[in-house]
Amino acid sequence: MKRTRFSRRGGLTRDAEQLIVAARGLGNSGSRLEDRYWETQLFEPVSHMLGAGNEDGLNAALDALYRDDGRGYEALADMVEACTESAQVDDEGKQWDVLMFAAPALAWSRFSIPSGTISGAALAALRVHLGAHVVAAGGRVALTNVLWSPDQLPNGFVETHELAQRLTAAAITERDVVVNPRDLPETNPFLSDMRYIIGAAAVPRGAALFRWQEADGSREAAGTAWTTQGHAAMQALFAGCALEVLLPDAFHAACRQADRRARPYSLAASVAFLESALDAKPASLHVTIGGFWDKRLEEFRVGFALHGQTEVVHGVVWPLLDAEDENSDVTQQIEAVLRECGVTDIVVHEQRFPLEYCDDCGAPLYPDSDGMPAHAEMPEPEQPQPRHLH
Ligand SMILES: [Zn+2]
Repeated sequence: MKRTRFSRRGGLTRDAEQLIVAARGLGNSGSRLEDRYWETQLFEPVSHMLGAGNEDGLNAALDALYRDDGRGYEALADMVEACTESAQVDDEGKQWDVLMFAAPALAWSRFSIPSGTISGAALAALRVHLGAHVVAAGGRVALTNVLWSPDQLPNGFVETHELAQRLTAAAITERDVVVNPRDLPETNPFLSDMRYIIGAAAVPRGAALFRWQEADGSREAAGTAWTTQGHAAMQALFAGCALEVLLPDAFHAACRQADRRARPYSLAASVAFLESALDAKPASLHVTIGGFWDKRLEEFRVGFALHGQTEVVHGVVWPLLDAEDENSDVTQQIEAVLRECGVTDIVVHEQRFPLEYCDDCGAPLYPDSDGMPAHAEMPEPEQPQPRHLH
């Protein structure tokens, strides 16, 4: 998940001031012992603020650190994420470590990418594969019964923490968490998008959480098993879609990894889509890349046109992640992905495009080959050509 770049201003509460002092201390600490001292100083107020629903206080402290203390900011962001997604609980004399995890998938389809309720049978199959390839032996797993789209993920630390708490209680007793998809925001349709299975794993305090922490396990082996057998279990949920599954991990780490991987995935999906929908070979595409600015560079947008034409037929947004800005080598990355897909005709426009959307439908405008922001329009389908059949 992208760490939001905060811009709010305002007075700080005492809680937030305490967090800032401890986060600055942890950022500057030179030893594990000093780390532990500051971590304890951070842990209590962060846990308390999450429990009290004080999202604004947490964001105010992060905001203040973001402006002038990068290491302090990272220290606090790490602690907030850890307290949000993990817990240590005692249950009937047993002590558990519990972690909320996400299993991300990238999908594209000419039709629609599913979201919403997962059937009991599919959930059971996922549970088996998570238990075999991802969660360490003896771990207990709870899953939510929905396929989450990015628009539906919990909004902010407090909501994420609330879902983690429900999953924590469920994991210890090996139940699932029932979410009503009607309570979630509507999913926006995209050609390519991410979906997440969200769950929690509980292990006896101090034991390995994941299969790759065990003596005979490794991330590579877990990754291979998951991309074959986990993929098969996931594909059942994604009829009519091309699918790539990512190795499940702690919730925030998995979401960040999915955000990163989704950028090249959506470019490759677009090239494949244009080939299948318009019979446009990658080498015949004319692709234009431009940076779109509000007060600062917000994102790159990529406009696809057919050979010899200026009209944008399809577009992709390439968001900036982490600390990326106009000095990062983002356009080279975009070009490299396009070339890997077989696209050769690529133009980068250096001007600052305004961060504009269509007034009618809200779609982003994409750069055309003349360097103008343009609405992407797929050509009207022609009469179907009679296919030559042998
Ligand atoms: Zn429009």
